[in-house]
Amino acid sequence: MTDLRLLPSVDQLLQTRQAAELIASHGRPLVLESIRLTLSEIRSSSPDLDSLPDLPEILSLASARLAVWTSPSLIPVINATGVVLHTNLGRAPLSAEAVQAAASVSRGYSNLEYDLNQGRRGSRQSSVEDLLTHLTGAEAALVVNNNAGAVLLALSALARRRRVIISRTQLVEIGGGFRIPEVMSQSGARLVEVGTTNRVHLSDYESALQEPAALVLRAHPSNFRIVGFASEPTLGELVDLAHRSGVPVVDDLGSGALLETARFGLAHEPMVQESISLGVDLVCFSGDKLLGGPQAGIITGRADLVAALRRHPLARALRADKLCLAALSATLLHYLKDEAERAIPIWQMISKTPEQNQARAHHWAELLGTGEVIPGQSTVGGGSLPGETQPTFLLAIKSSHPNRLMSRMRAQRPPIVARVENDLVVLDPRTVLPEEEGALLVGLQNALQEA
Ligand SMILES: *Cc1c(COP(=O)(O)O)cnc(C)c1O
Repeated sequence: MTDLRLLPSVDQLLQTRQAAELIASHGRPLVLESIRLTLSEIRSSSPDLDSLPDLPEILSLASARLAVWTSPSLIPVINATGVVLHTNLGRAPLSAEAVQAAASVSRGYSNLEYDLNQGRRGSRQSSVEDLLTHLTGAEAALVVNNNAGAVLLALSALARRRRVIISRTQLVEIGGGFRIPEVMSQSGARLVEVGTTNRVHLSDYESALQEPAALVLRAHPSNFRIVGFASEPTLGELVDLAHRSGVPVVDDLGSGALLETARFGLAHEPMVQESISLGVDLVCFSGDKLLGGPQAGIITGRADLVAALRRHPLARALRADKLCLAALSATLLHYLKDEAERAIPIWQMISKTPEQNQARAHHWAELLGTGEVIPGQSTVGGGSLPGETQPTFLLAIKSSHPNRLMSRMRAQRPPIVARVENDLVVLDPRTVLPEEEGALLVGLQNALQEA
């Protein structure tokens, strides 16, 4: 039996040195709340206790609670999966310059909407627009919060209550609940499906264009591929046909690469410049997929259409913030300076040779004194280049309980996320940033020792 009258009071606990230290780092209200909660828990579980915790024990329980309350829930993670654009791990890591740009405009004030030459209100997007039009060859550009927002805005501004023609091969669902038919209905556009699941002909579009339409939508089937008896007209044919009826074409490119992926032994991912030069009227793509920048939705194309989008109320609701615009400008600048491959993390990763990954995996095995280096495959991920892999080398660690080792790796700070393949825990050097290597090895060592 325990005598609850022996439990120290809140005031007694607050007067200790330990509590003073907690108050100094966490503030009095939070410390008070954690002590109260700890005491009430002890009271309710007291019938099962042999003895009551003493004063230091109560404070350390309260302190543990405070640590959980005040630790940030969004923290850096080491991605050793070999999936370059890992949606669950935050997609594209930013370049040092992009991080620096976002930090420097967020510390103080900036000329976000201020024209420094004229000394009056200016546009928040003018510099990023210049970069985008220069890089893609488009007349105009607009940046919103993400690509789902970009597509919604384009459809809402250009096609509300009007017909939008799209092939049944392209009625796609991207991860995270983005489904073309649902975005279409949200925008108020009327979906006109043409063709079949596997095949669509130019004549299918031609019949649909007999009646007035607001636009033809092309959605890049980013995360899957139709193989076998499948065909589609080329984008160029589609643009020519639509333009003969005076109907604009909007291309939801998804990833929107500015660099040629075939250079790295991957399939060709459609590029923004290609769509623009084929005469597409608006191209929508993400900022944090193969562009390698911050989360953003980018719309480039005809000046009159971009202007219509900019005037729509949704543009204000979906507008990009200054951190995003600063990081995006810095990322685009890498392309402009022809240094994307060496300055942007995702391109550094994609351009690594198997031999470079092999040497790093060997280095890790040596330092850890365990593990074997085996050949494997990395993927681009993030709804780009489905089914495409790049040869790599993996550090493979044998463990009697691979999933238990994985969970110990995730419990490290920073957490390490890897893969299990054929009962081996495998780590792909491709997606581990050079500056993370020290923490990776310490974390792995700890996780292995706990085994
Ligand atoms: C990824 C993707 C989207 C959504 O882009 P977010 O930037 O994630 O909002 C839309 N359409 C296609 C074709 C995509 O691949």
